[in-house]
Amino acid sequence: MNDLLPGESPLWQYLEQTVAALLAGYGYREIRFPILEQTELFKRSIGEVTDIVEKEMYTFDDRNGDSLTLRPEGTAGCVRAAEQNGLLFNQIQRLWYAGPMFRHERPQKGRLRQFHQIGAEVFGLPGPDIDAEMLAMTWQLWKILGLQEQVTLQINSLGSAEARAAYRSALVDYLNDHIEALDEDSRRRLTSNPLRILDSKSESTQALLDRAPVFDDFIDAESREHFAQLRDQLEAADIPYQVNSRLVRGLDYYGKTVFEWITSALGAQGTVCAGGRYDGLVEQLGGKPTPAIGFAMGTERLALLLDAAGTVPDSIARQLDVYVVVAVDDQPRALALVEGIRRECPNVRLQMHCGGGGIKSQMKKADKSGACIALILGEDELAQGAIGVKYLREEQPQQVVPIEQIAEKLTTHLE
Ligand code: ATP
Ligand code: MG
Repeated sequence: MNDLLPGESPLWQYLEQTVAALLAGYGYREIRFPILEQTELFKRSIGEVTDIVEKEMYTFDDRNGDSLTLRPEGTAGCVRAAEQNGLLFNQIQRLWYAGPMFRHERPQKGRLRQFHQIGAEVFGLPGPDIDAEMLAMTWQLWKILGLQEQVTLQINSLGSAEARAAYRSALVDYLNDHIEALDEDSRRRLTSNPLRILDSKSESTQALLDRAPVFDDFIDAESREHFAQLRDQLEAADIPYQVNSRLVRGLDYYGKTVFEWITSALGAQGTVCAGGRYDGLVEQLGGKPTPAIGFAMGTERLALLLDAAGTVPDSIARQLDVYVVVAVDDQPRALALVEGIRRECPNVRLQMHCGGGGIKSQMKKADKSGACIALILGEDELAQGAIGVKYLREEQPQQVVPIEQIAEKLTTHLE
């Protein structure tokens, strides 16, 4: 579990604010739900034989002996909250959430035990139009963040539950006949979660799959049509994608559309955003049948990607605009003046020097602070009703500016 230090938090704030603004622009509204849920909720939604539920959850009994789990993902809690608060029946909802998730995994670059996701879920829309719009929205996000060269979209259709069941048994039959060529993990999955074998990393297993039954021969007509329409809409909107027929996702609740945005810039942890359609989940958790689709992106991986791509605007990395050097003995007057300037330009990030010391050491601190302007409150200038202005990142002589013009000067310079 990581500490996020002050040097990194501006990047996170930029990322979170950019995503929040984009989602708001598409009519999504934020929902906040607890970090803890009943363990049962995750078992029933994610699935008993998935990696998350089998190996990765932080589960404990509370003082009443109830089994609780730190949420490993957001969809289950979002569905639970929306259903319990009457947001789903006969309604269309576009929702988003952000926050920490917990999985007991082997920590490595881009893989932590407490990590963060920003996710979106849409309820009440069965057609491919919303699938396409969601992917268009994420594509828009990569463009805003300057990451469009770094990511590629993979999509697949998992069809209906019946089609998946028929395919599963055909796949299991085939793989059972070639079990000697299967890697150990896949052998285990053959009885628990055989579709996951499709995205096995083992080369011999992948070679075996080249001759395995293909889902395309099993997919139901409705899902086939849904997928074809989705692809048409992506093409019309110029959203590049690849069909990956071995993309299955690790969670039980998905059907029809699934997708991942992946990058090669982060080593093995290549998936930055992933999701799909889960039309059966709301009913499975006790609600009325409600079509739904959602995705989640990993904030740590996005932050790593942004850092690597170097597309973060300079103003984000700079945490201070102005440093005020206090070279007068009259601290009350200095404070009153600075507070006055703040009121006039509330968006300027301004730090007043505290703790005393000579002008030389204060100027050093001003320079180290990252600010681009130092305001110097000196006896002589103040006697004339003025303040010294020094540009810290430019070759320009120091200026003396009347106090009443300071706010405007700062605002125009920092625009
Ligand atoms: P992976 O294949 O990398 O394990 P996943 O299929 O388990 O991913 P999801 O459950 O779909 O991931 O979560 C969506 C996104 O959340 C992932 O694409 C990734 O960006 C991020 N994510 C998942 N697990 C972690 C983790 N342990 N640490 C950091 N980010 C994570
Ligand atoms: Mg995982």
